[in-house]
Amino acid sequence: MEAKMVALKSGRMKWVPEMNSEEFMEMSESYEGFCIICGETASGVEPDANEYICEGCGQPGVYGYEELMLMGDVELTD
Ligand SMILES: [Zn+2]
Repeated sequence: MEAKMVALKSGRMKWVPEMNSEEFMEMSESYEGFCIICGETASGVEPDANEYICEGCGQPGVYGYEELMLMGDVELTD
């Protein structure tokens, strides 16, 4: 999985994971999460989790993949 940094209208930056739909299903089913603040993946995260504290950066930036998809924050490559 790749991730890219995008600029928000507010001028802040966030990370967006890039993956195909198969990878998306795998990540979601294996309770993987993603931190939009630092781009790290997290484990043991419910698919609909939002704003969990990230072990990497200590900020509430971790979201489950289904939640990211709902927010339009997953870039599907297929
Ligand atoms: Zn983080």
